[in-house]
Amino acid sequence: MIVTLRPGADADAVRRALVTRGQWVTPARAAGGAEGAVVHFVIAPGSVPVDPVELSQIEGVAGVAGPTSAHPRVDAHGPTVDVRGLRVGDGRPVFMCGPCAVESEEQIRAIAARLSALGVEFLRGGAYKPRTSPYAFQGRGGEALTWLRRAADAHGMRVVTEALGEADVSLVAEVADLVQVGSRNMQNYALLKAVGRAGRPVLLKRAMSATVEEWLLAGEYLLTHGAPGVIFCERGVRGFDPETRNLLDLGAVALLAHACRLPVVVDPSHGTGRRDLVLPLARAALAAGAAGVMIETHDNPGAALSDGPQALLPEQLREALAVLRGGGA
Ligand code: PEP
Ligand code: MN
Repeated sequence: MIVTLRPGADADAVRRALVTRGQWVTPARAAGGAEGAVVHFVIAPGSVPVDPVELSQIEGVAGVAGPTSAHPRVDAHGPTVDVRGLRVGDGRPVFMCGPCAVESEEQIRAIAARLSALGVEFLRGGAYKPRTSPYAFQGRGGEALTWLRRAADAHGMRVVTEALGEADVSLVAEVADLVQVGSRNMQNYALLKAVGRAGRPVLLKRAMSATVEEWLLAGEYLLTHGAPGVIFCERGVRGFDPETRNLLDLGAVALLAHACRLPVVVDPSHGTGRRDLVLPLARAALAAGAAGVMIETHDNPGAALSDGPQALLPEQLREALAVLRGGGA
């Protein structure tokens, strides 16, 4: 956005007025006519969303113009999302933990009990699993959703679980407090529309090769089709080095949290693929401005049907949470 000043206006006063409205301001000067150079202020992306009419009413401003955002609903979203009475993004980090996949009713019931005792707010677990190989475990489907809901309800936890395809959306939205759109589906626009129409808040994972702008536009799809709120989730983009499963982009997290003022959480489990790196990157995520962390947790990672190497044991999670909540080094 570009703010043009009237000739002779007090540029410093206008700059201050813009800054107090949360605008990131860069001065620019264009060659003018007889009255000398025309002063413009360029408003940087990531400034607090504001009605241009309000800016045009500042004393000394001649006009406000410039490219309008491609994602106005995301720009107006704000930093918090209400998920069944819990405000994610209000400054206190939230935790979303559980196994990669819901494997059996006993498994999810036992892990929910451990997690709720640790004060974990969200129980995660995939009923429908997006697997690279068609021969790998695909998830237990609809019955896993029932087990997940029952296990969460037994402890007053919220459920976050993935809708893998359009056909699953209504069933998943009946069960989930927060509907997850997985990385591989971030640009599945038909799915985004269907998930938006379901009317639940959404956890939108970043696709592994998506730019931030593409990620925000996927959020725009959800909001414009009816989602009441979107929590963005950074889970690593594809890097060049196979030492870690993905390359966790904490720069993007800081950008969303501080410049765009959006709720963003981080998944260091998929971000690294290694349980020993989950805690250090979870700490870094919160330092970068994340509103919460998603951590895969399994009571027997060696026997997990998916993603065992990145899962923490409940005991390891307990130690990690003590650190992340500020009670340990
Ligand atoms: C998951 O969280 O279960 C998952 C499959 O993650 P991602 O979409 O980030 O790979
Ligand atoms: Mn997983």
